[in-house]
Parts: sequence; structure tokens; C-alpha cells
Amino acid sequence: MLDMWHTFLQTLLNGTPWPDLLSRDDLLPDGWTMETLLLAAIGVPVGLAVLHFVRVLLILLFGRKYHALRALNQACEFDDGIRTRYEYKVQLNSRKQLERYDFERFFLEEYGRNPQTFGAILESAQNNERKYRKYKAEVERLLGVKLGETARIGFFDPLEVKLCKRRLKEPITSPIFHCTAEYTSPKGQNHYSRTADYTVRQMEAVGKQYRKNVDFQASKAYQRSLMTDSLRYDIMKRDNFRCVLCGRTAKEGVKLHVDHIVPVAKGGLTVPDNLRTLCDQCNLGKSDKYDPHGAN
Ligand SMILES: [Zn+2]
Repeated sequence: MLDMWHTFLQTLLNGTPWPDLLSRDDLLPDGWTMETLLLAAIGVPVGLAVLHFVRVLLILLFGRKYHALRALNQACEFDDGIRTRYEYKVQLNSRKQLERYDFERFFLEEYGRNPQTFGAILESAQNNERKYRKYKAEVERLLGVKLGETARIGFFDPLEVKLCKRRLKEPITSPIFHCTAEYTSPKGQNHYSRTADYTVRQMEAVGKQYRKNVDFQASKAYQRSLMTDSLRYDIMKRDNFRCVLCGRTAKEGVKLHVDHIVPVAKGGLTVPDNLRTLCDQCNLGKSDKYDPHGAN
């Protein structure tokens, strides 16, 4: 192998127009042989690797930033009970159903099935996000670098910064709620699907809507419970025991009711201003209908 190398160089040198100016010995420092050159060629990278290893070891043992980061990592507890992605699948019976599929409603119902679980996931994500913001600021101050969206290791980062960046905590702060709605044609020939990705913010809005609905249901029940016999009597007395629409009384063969002008289902309250006496016939056509701009 070395002989070949010698011959190659020799040929090269002999082939040059200045064979006398440049000899083989000129290529190497005094006292070097081809063998020493080869050893040096292997020795330099090996030496650099050893040097690098020693530097890493020194940083791991005595690095000020490195140890500050370790202490910070220990002090910073993130919630690791959540996932980056939550997947849902819905099978539909027609393409039309698929086209009209309401993902907002899907997530609202899904949330309603398990409000505690969703609440806990969203809370964990928020906590992680809040803690991570502090953690990141602290890391940036510690390392003297900006981390940006993700802590990418730069080629020119000092070794200690690189080592630290590799040990940064990366909590889940923004899980995605992914829903796939699918429809497969009867013989399985065609497959259609639509997807929706909900972020933490969007799911929070869904949760808010869910709580609003629950509150509304509770308030409806409460408003209905306020309708006591005593109040019913007071309203009829106020209206002179007559239907306020047709003027008939019980003596004329109609049954009188106390009616919510704005229905409870539409947010109407059980207060005298929203109550009136109606006969069963006038009440019949009305039920829950309410026209906010018209006479009721
Ligand atoms: Zn009437």
C-alpha cells in the first residue's frame, strides 16, 4: 500500500516540468516519512475526538450553565399525562351527511360525554404552556441565547450551550384534537373523508359553550320551579281572571293558564312582567313560539 503511494507520488513528481525543483523530500517536514504522515492523518481526528470528549466531560462535571440547567429542570415539573394528539373517528351513512357534517357539534357532544377528562387535558395544556413560558425565559437568561419557537441547536453554538439545548424539557403545550368523518359507499368502492383539527383554544371555546348550555338547562329548570300556585294566582288576579288576548273568563267555558311571554326555553324569566293569563285556546297556538318583534 505504501509502496503504491510512493510510486504514485514519484510518477507525479517525475511528470512535472520542474523535476529538479521539487523532490519527494520537499513535500514532508525534516525527519518525516510517509509513515509519519499517515499516522498524523489518522492521529489528528482521533486527537480532536479525544479532546472533544474531555471537553464534554469537563462541562458535565463542572459546567456552570449545565448545572444551573439541571437544577432548573429538576425544579420545573411539567404535566406529562397528556398526549400531543387525540384522534376521533365518525362513520357516516351518506356523502350528503359527510358534506354537511358539523365538527363543532361533534366536539361539543364529545366534550359533554366526558367534561372532566376534557377539562383536565385543557388545564394540563394551559399549565404546561404557562410554566414552559417561564422555563424558556429562564433558560434564555441562563444560556444567553434566544430559543425561538423550538430550541434548535446551531452549528456555531458553544459546546456547553449545545449540551444544554439537548437536555431542555419539551412539555406538551398544544395538543391537537383531530376528528375524521368518513363515508364509504355501499360496495366499498369509494371512500370519502373530511377532517378537522381543533386546537386547545378552540376546545376551550367548545368547553365554554358546553358549560353555557349546562347553565342554561339549569336556569330553565330553575325558572320553571319558580312558577308556584301562589304566583299563578297573583298573575290571574292582576289580569282580572281573563284571557289577555280574547278576554274570555272561566265562566265562559275556557280554561285559564299563566303563560311566559318570552318562553323559558328562549331565556324568559318567571317574573310578573313576563307572565300573563291566557285561555287554553289562545295558548294552544302559541306554545314556545315567540316573535321578539311582534305582538305575542
Ligand atoms: Zn283567549
